[in-house]
This record gives sequence, C-alpha cells and structure tokens, in this order.
Amino acid sequence: MAERVRSVKGMRDLLPPETAIWAAVEDVARRIFASYGYGEVRTPILEDTELFVRGVGEATDIVGKEMYTFTDRKGRSLTLRPESTAPVARAFVQHGLADQGLPVKLYYVGPQFRYERPQRGRYRQFNQIGAELIGDPGPASDAELLLMLVRFLEALDYTGLTVLLNTVGDDESRARYREALVAFLEPHREVLGEDSRRRLETNPLRILDTKSPAERELLADAPRLEGHLTAQSRTHFEAVGQALEVCGVRFRVEPRLVRGLDYYSRTVFEIVAEGLGAQDAIVGGGRYDGLIGDLGGADVPAIGFAIGEDRLLAALPESFRRAHAPVAPVHLVAAGDVEPSQLLELAERLRAEGLDLVTELGGRSVKAALKRADKSGSRWVLLAGEDELAAGELSLRDLDAGEQVRLGPDAAIAKIKGQS
Ligand code: AMP
Repeated sequence: MAERVRSVKGMRDLLPPETAIWAAVEDVARRIFASYGYGEVRTPILEDTELFVRGVGEATDIVGKEMYTFTDRKGRSLTLRPESTAPVARAFVQHGLADQGLPVKLYYVGPQFRYERPQRGRYRQFNQIGAELIGDPGPASDAELLLMLVRFLEALDYTGLTVLLNTVGDDESRARYREALVAFLEPHREVLGEDSRRRLETNPLRILDTKSPAERELLADAPRLEGHLTAQSRTHFEAVGQALEVCGVRFRVEPRLVRGLDYYSRTVFEIVAEGLGAQDAIVGGGRYDGLIGDLGGADVPAIGFAIGEDRLLAALPESFRRAHAPVAPVHLVAAGDVEPSQLLELAERLRAEGLDLVTELGGRSVKAALKRADKSGSRWVLLAGEDELAAGELSLRDLDAGEQVRLGPDAAIAKIKGQS
C-alpha cells in the first residue's frame, strides 16, 4: 500500500458535525457585529513580508521566529498572515477607506499562521475572529468595542466574563517608562533569562509578561507604567473604566498586561471566562494609534481585538453546543424494487417543500437502512415501496417511537415538521 500523506504538523482538519458548531459561532459573530455597524473585510492570506515587519514589529516573537515566509517564483518575499490587524490596516490605507467618513468598522473571520511549537490549543494554522474600529480616538469607542465583545461571548453562553484591562500609555508614556524599567532591570541582568536579556534592548515592556518565576519575583518591585503615564493617557484609561462600569461590564485592571505586539498604545485588554485559567485568554486586543501612520496612511487612531476561535470552541459552553447541534436529516429509503431515478425525483419534491433529506439509493436492505438512519441520529425514515408510490403515498417511520404510518407526502412533511 502506498504511504499516506498526512496534514502538515500543527494544522488540522475540521470535520462534521464539529464544523456545524464553528459555523454557528461565526453566525453569532456576524449577527452581533452587524448590530454594532461592522462590515466584513476579507483580505488575502498572503501579504508582502514587509507589512508584518513594519506593522507587527521586528522585535516581536511573531516576526522574529514564527512567520511562514517564503520567496515566490519571482523572488518576492511573501508571508502567510500571522495576524490580521496589519492586513486590515493596509487595506484601509490602500483603498482610502477614510474617505467614506470615520470611524470605519470592520470585522474578519479567517485562518492565521504561526510557526509555533504545537501543543494543546496551540496550532500553526488557527482561526481568528476579529474586529477593528478605525478612526475614533475617544475612550467611549474603546468601551463600545469591549461591550460588543462581551455581548458576543455572552451570546455563546459564556459566563463569569472578566475584562482584564490595562494601558500601555501613549508614545511619550512608554518612552518614560521604558527608561525607568531598563534602569531598574540593568543591575539584575543575571536574573534574566536569554529572551528577557534580549528584550532589554529590543522591547523591555515585554519582559513584564514573563513566565519565569525568578523574573516575576524581581518584577514585583519594578516601577509600574502607571506611575509614568501622561495626564492624557491616564484620563483616557479612567474614562474607559468608567464607561464599562456604567454599562455593567466586569473588569479588572491588570498592570502586568502588556501584550506581545509592538503596535499597541494606550488601552490593551484580554478577556477570561469562568473555568478558563488566565493563561488561556480567548481574546486579546488593544489600541494601535500609530499603526496606520506607520503603514503610510494618515495619522488615524484605531482599536481592535482578535479572538482565538480554536480556543473559543474548545471551551465552548455545552448549552450552546446542544442548542446548535445539527439536526440529522430525514432518510428516504427505497423499499423493494423502486427505480433510483423515481426516488431521486421524489426526494427533490420533498426537499422543495423544505425537508432536509438523505436518500438511500443503493437498493440495500431496508433493515440495514433503518440502522444507518438510527446511527446518524435521525428520528424519521420515509419508506417508498412500489405500493406506496403507486398510491402516491409514503410510509413514515418514527424511530424514537418505533411506529410506522402510511400517509401522503404533505401529511408526512407536516408530521415531521411538527415533530409529533
Ligand atoms: P494574538 O493575535 O497573539 O493577540 O492572539 C489572539 C488570540 O488568538 C489569543 O488569545 C489566542 O486565543 C489565539 N491564538 C494565538 N496564537 C494561537 C495559536 N498558535 N493557536 C491557537 N490560537 C492562537
């Protein structure tokens, strides 16, 4: 036998019936985001590598070691998108969307690619649902974006949601803080691991979200960004919290939350839900007031989030799963010597009346067909024998009740739809 080809490491197939749940989750996202005035954007999966180097930042883990980058046949460097904020910002600039009037509200659903070490809940191709609110600098827009996100998670039956909120300040706040943090850490270089030592030069703020116990202990006494905020950054942050409070959204200020991407400024956040550890944030986001300018656009502020759909599904409340489990279609079975074409024609008529139907065209035994229907979770089987067809009727079998009645197609449909 020939050797089997398998899917690429860290990338997986999603199969029915699980795909039906994914689609249901995405439907909810589309409905809720539309109710806040967001429209869908679909950008290509491939971008010029430069977009991410400039947009996400050279010093980030993503650009430094996680990108799927290759040269195409003409020697251009292309990258499978590791995130979608930079592509959406590029599209915003490229199409002059600012001309339509600000703010512009966009959402996306789609695969992202990062060459990470595969482990539970971490894949090399994973899906994100995200939204970007471009062109409104005010704290109320931060709060509204968070509200939309919380409403979405609530609609999936998530409970105990807490927004973890922080500010990384504006450029000036960060520059001030960076200096103070480096001054504090420099004398303790020997405590820092290799990554953090490197970050001391490239991106010291990232050291704050270290997992190393020794580094965490050291950081307990480190200066806090809070103490270095400009008045403007502080006022903005306080106003976001106030708006969330007024709208009844539970949040906790998390001074160590810095997020891994270079483009963030001011508000950053993650959301945790009941039953999920803080390690398992299903969503992260924040403001990126400088990104659009960095990509050659005007100086337009923006804020967005990205939900990890794989994790969202792995932790999805059972109640949502149950409510959206696909209903197995009715089986239409030829009983006896019935022409397959006759059965096909009948099936088409029944589907036109709104019945979801699978046909058993094989002419195999009725008993086996009933077994298959039962196994598929279907409650109803329609049996079409020569007798029935001649009389313009069908036999409807209720597998749950173990009963069978003979009746016309309309009555059969009514009975199935009434589930009685
Ligand atoms: P980020 O784009 O890094 O801010 O991540 C946003 C969300 O995407 C995270 O909270 C995760 O839920 C999800 N995510 C990031 N990387 C992966 C991955 N390799 N596999 C699965 N989900 C991921």
